Amino acid sequence: MSGDKPPLSLADFCEMPVGVLTGVGPKKVAALAQLDIESLYDLLTHYPRRYIDRTNEARIAELVDGVEGMVLVEVRRSDIRRLKGRRTMTTVDVFDATGSLRLSFFNQPWRAKQLSAGQQAVIFGKPEDYRGRPQMTNPIVDLVGDKTGRIVPMYPQSEKAGVASWDLASWVAESLRRSASRGFAEPIPEAVRNQYKLISRGEAFQGIHTPENMTDVDNARKRLVFDELFRIQVALVMRKRAIERSSVGVEHIVGGELVDRFIDLLPFGFTGAQSRALGDILGDLGVSPPMHRLLQGDVGSGKTVVAVAALLAAIQGGHQGALMAPTEVLAEQHYLGIRGLIEGLTVPDDRDQSSLLGDRPLGLALLTNRTTKAERTRLAEDLQAGTVDLLIGTHALIQESVEFRSLGLVVIDEQHRFGVEQRAALRNKGAGETVPDVLVMTATPIPRTAAMTVYGDLDVSVIDEMPPGRTPIETQWIQTVREGDDLPDVDPEEADQAEEAVWQHVREQVAAGRQIYVVTPLIEESEKLEVASAGETFDRLSNVELRECSVALLHGRLTPAEKEQVMDLFRSGDLDVLVATTVIEVGVDVPNATVMVILDADRFGIAQLHQLRGRVGRGGGASWCFLLAAGSTPDARTRLQALVDSTDGFELAEVDLELRGEGTIMGERQKGRSDLKLASLRRDRYWVEQARAAAFDTVDADPELDAHGVLADEIDALLGSGEAEFLMKS
Ligand code: ADP
Ligand code: MG
Repeated sequence: MSGDKPPLSLADFCEMPVGVLTGVGPKKVAALAQLDIESLYDLLTHYPRRYIDRTNEARIAELVDGVEGMVLVEVRRSDIRRLKGRRTMTTVDVFDATGSLRLSFFNQPWRAKQLSAGQQAVIFGKPEDYRGRPQMTNPIVDLVGDKTGRIVPMYPQSEKAGVASWDLASWVAESLRRSASRGFAEPIPEAVRNQYKLISRGEAFQGIHTPENMTDVDNARKRLVFDELFRIQVALVMRKRAIERSSVGVEHIVGGELVDRFIDLLPFGFTGAQSRALGDILGDLGVSPPMHRLLQGDVGSGKTVVAVAALLAAIQGGHQGALMAPTEVLAEQHYLGIRGLIEGLTVPDDRDQSSLLGDRPLGLALLTNRTTKAERTRLAEDLQAGTVDLLIGTHALIQESVEFRSLGLVVIDEQHRFGVEQRAALRNKGAGETVPDVLVMTATPIPRTAAMTVYGDLDVSVIDEMPPGRTPIETQWIQTVREGDDLPDVDPEEADQAEEAVWQHVREQVAAGRQIYVVTPLIEESEKLEVASAGETFDRLSNVELRECSVALLHGRLTPAEKEQVMDLFRSGDLDVLVATTVIEVGVDVPNATVMVILDADRFGIAQLHQLRGRVGRGGGASWCFLLAAGSTPDARTRLQALVDSTDGFELAEVDLELRGEGTIMGERQKGRSDLKLASLRRDRYWVEQARAAAFDTVDADPELDAHGVLADEIDALLGSGEAEFLMKS
């Protein structure tokens, strides 16, 4: 590598296979490939999992019998003995300043050579007392080699692949040594580096792999985390700006009186969070670039009311609005709800010049599969004429040949599904060259920083405050015992009694005129099994526990007409209990329902349980959610307890992120090639926000990154087509 070549970017390191390193032959190349390490970029970003401080950690004297521990030791001597048959036992005596320890390995004769006198090694294992001396059998060994620093990096390693931490350390060191003459290229603009006091990338790689002390590690980590987050944010912000540049939106008149009249007519005042969200939206509507905004908030937090206010802002300027729901049922519910909300509102009638008052009632229409052909024809005319101001329907309304006179704003109620295609289709629905503004509502809260990363081409508003006067739902986890469960801490008799108490409570609520949901176990592998199990539950409950109640069954194998029939009966109060699979998850609104019982609740994720629970507590009366589950894993117990402890969707989303990691949010990505190798959307929340702000500054000053070639190259190389595509898709 000669001195007159330019500094190395990460894109360059991606091009260099690990085979260029001394001592990495075909065998090691294959072994490294098992760890997803193929290029020097992969190697350099294979970061240490932890560090061992030689001076004050991991002493032999601190080991506790029977408890797994880790020590940093020197080998005194090793010895192989032949046992009966062809078996061997290798014993290795090791020591540190505080004591000595014996290691024994069965049938690993090569250990004697590996652990020769004078070698330094890190040993993980469970010490046992053997004749007054501590001993470990078949511990995990990591050679430290001739490293002299105080801090020893420990890499995620693989015994199976035969790659030791020490090997990785020495290859990383070689890579760093050999790139020193060219140095590392710098993708981050100087102003940003100065603002956040970021060290250079070269120092950062040195600091993370070969630190002198833990402060080096902290500084290095900060810089490298910023690198990752900044790259993703720049890609997203570029995409966002490109969409804004390539399309012209409507400049709505946001100061008009229709919105004010609507808000005055409401029997309640907006919460602070609702006002802030509406402020964000009106801000977007008033300017020409089309809005692309995500409105997040728990079920019942008042998103729909905010969306209606936004639609009225568009309508008062003479445009039309559309609201799309994911299901027919939801579309109908929205239609009925919104009809109530806008009752009495009028708009100027520019069609009918003879009208004395010059006003007509606001035109509202519903379009679903049930709309007849004749009605459709009428509707098409009215939409063209502009006498329908607001059209509500399923997602299909955007695919059908529905022509608006001037579509100004589309609200998409996603509940918890994100429809990319629908959003794309919208861009072609505007009047002439303009593109309608888009507001996406979701009731699945995801943490703010995750939203910024995953939905980074959207702006995000959050309603994180519930309207006053709601009685919080009381949630209880009832630990159940089924045949074959082995739960030492649970008394089966007590568990049965607790379960019976739930059904007793259900009967009491039914007697008081309330309605109940029972959700049957989720069986992801097979809908058939799920339906069968729902059928069994239904048979049992309707014959035994709830035989005095009127009970119906709802599942995914029913025809739409059958489903509709059951739902109508439940909605009208003719049914007491609805036994259902998760088909009820989306958008059933029965304010009289006060109890939700979820069977085998530990099969559901936190978000899903929270969604299901949101089906009750909608009427102002006291409500309950009973989670019946064994909870036999620590993970399941944490999930169930989280639901018991909190009804705040954002808090729960944080717990979910904590439990499941970013993987779930980032979606199915190639393992080991994730963009977030070091950064954590939880731990590095602050840096996600900073990186996004810096990305806006950078892209707005240089939209095509003409002056930031290294950054542009790295985005191409590291967020290359497939992944970049995924990130963009939101
Ligand atoms: P979301 O769409 O987020 O599920 P909605 O907008 O449908 O929530 O509101 C749920 C219920 O709360 C509706 O009955 C609505 O009228 C009522 N509501 C909305 N905002 C408020 C508020 N600020 N104060 C009192 N009630 C409200
Ligand atoms: Mg709603």
